[in-house]
Amino acid sequence: MLNIVIFGAPGSGKGTQSERIVEKYGINHISTGDVLRAEIKKGTELGKVAQSYIDQGQLLPDHLIVDILAATLDSFAESKGVIFDGFPRTIAQAEALKKMLAERGQAVSIMLNLDVPEEELMKRLIKRGQESGRADDNEETIKKRLVVYHNQTAPLIDWYKQEGLYAHIHGFGALETITAEICQAIDKVK
Ligand code: ADP
Repeated sequence: MLNIVIFGAPGSGKGTQSERIVEKYGINHISTGDVLRAEIKKGTELGKVAQSYIDQGQLLPDHLIVDILAATLDSFAESKGVIFDGFPRTIAQAEALKKMLAERGQAVSIMLNLDVPEEELMKRLIKRGQESGRADDNEETIKKRLVVYHNQTAPLIDWYKQEGLYAHIHGFGALETITAEICQAIDKVK
């Protein structure tokens, strides 16, 4: 089983690179952001709760997102592995993921940190907001998300270093070059 955590600030390219990895390695993809946006679209209770946090640039409470993740994970039959995109985002979530996988006789194989300079992140997110109309891609909310990233999510870098699972990826440059660096890192642990 190949269980990959793709990690990085908002706008670091996790979604784009995840699609490429899914295609190359034939694993499943869980994007917590996509799951939440689908719930919002369907107008479910969870969607309503999610919207209030997303609009504020805040993270959803850990227990909610952990439950969603467990349900999604169990919906994959005969999986070759999973790429986790947008999860974990807090240390509590990383610990929950470790436990969840251990209960299923599995573990995280590698954590890929897509490292992108802050000015570039701002540029990409503002452009994405203009093109896709994603409501949280406006300058004010982006700034809040970057603060949340630094305070709550970035500490996971040291957490995964301690687990011996950390891989640094240069997330700035040509898409293909980034994909190649990612594949090299994955092939080492495969
Ligand atoms: P990005 O990483 O580009 O900011 P995502 O699509 O991954 O965007 O997530 C959008 C929003 O969904 C986040 O700002 C947050 O409010 C919520 N969210 C996504 N994943 C999580 C998570 N693991 N824990 C808590 N909230 C989450």
